[in-house]
Amino acid sequence: MPELPEVESVRLSLLPHVRGQIVAGVDVRRADVVSRGGVPRTGVRPGAVREGLLVGSRVAAVLRRGKQLAIVTGETADARAVVVQLGMSGQLFALQPGAHLPNASHVHVVWRLESGARLVFRDARRFGGVTVLHDRAALDERWSQLGPDALTIHGDQLAERLHATRRAIKAALLDQGLLAGVGNIYADESLFRAGISPRTPANRLTPLRIARLAGAIREVLQEAVAAGGSSLADGTYVDAEGNPGNFQLRHAVYGRGGEACRVCGKKLREGAILNRTTVWCAGCQRAG
Ligand SMILES: [Zn+2]
Repeated sequence: MPELPEVESVRLSLLPHVRGQIVAGVDVRRADVVSRGGVPRTGVRPGAVREGLLVGSRVAAVLRRGKQLAIVTGETADARAVVVQLGMSGQLFALQPGAHLPNASHVHVVWRLESGARLVFRDARRFGGVTVLHDRAALDERWSQLGPDALTIHGDQLAERLHATRRAIKAALLDQGLLAGVGNIYADESLFRAGISPRTPANRLTPLRIARLAGAIREVLQEAVAAGGSSLADGTYVDAEGNPGNFQLRHAVYGRGGEACRVCGKKLREGAILNRTTVWCAGCQRAG
C-alpha cells in the first residue's frame, strides 16, 4: 500500500509531465471510481463531471497531504481541485504520446493533455479513487481533517497529539487524523529507529522520546523519498514514470519478522496491532 514516500515519489515524477498543461479531455471508463466531493457521481450531469475533472483548465500544481494527491489549477480559493487516492493498488502515471496503455482493464480514468501525453489512473483493487471537489477551498477543508504531514512533523506537534491517547503508539501513528502519511511500513521503521516498542501506550512517552520519534519519522520518510519509495513483492508500486523504488532494500524491520536484527542480532518479533503485521526488536526497542 503506497504511503507518504511512494505518494510523494509519484507527485515528483508526475509534475514535469502535467504542470502548465491544459487538460484537453477526459475518459472516465469506470464511473464509480469518481466521486464528487465525497458524494457518489450518480445523478451529477456529465458536463459537470468533465469540468470538475479539469477539462479546459490548466494544471498549476500537484499537491500532497499525507497519502492524498491533489491536482489543482491555481492557488486561489476558487481554483479547481481533484483529489487522487492510490488506496491499496492505485497507480497514477504519465504516458507519452503514442505510447501503449498497458493492463488497460484496470484503467479507470484517462486525462488527455494538450501535449498529447496522457495521465492515467489505474487501480486493480479499487480501494483508491478520484474525488472531484468544488474548488480549492473545499480541498483545504478536506485536508484540515488530516493531521499534520509526517514529512515535516516536529516533536512538539506530535507530543500535543499523543498525550491525549492511551492507544499503542503504533496504532496512533497509523491514525491519519493524528498524523498524515505514515502507514504500516514506515510506522515500524520509524519506531525501530527511535528505539520505541510498538505497544507502548502513546501517553506514556516522555517529551524527549517523542522528539526522538518525530526525528526518526522525518529521517525515515526523507530517506525513503530519496530512494523513490518502497516497491514490495506485490509489484504494484511504481512512480509516475513506471520506475520502482528501492527503499525496501533498506527496511530494518518491516517484512523481516523472525530474521536477525541488523543492530543487535536478536531475532525480530512479529505480532499484530490493529490487525496489521508489526515487526520489532525486543532488544533495541523499549516501552518504559
Ligand atoms: Zn535489535
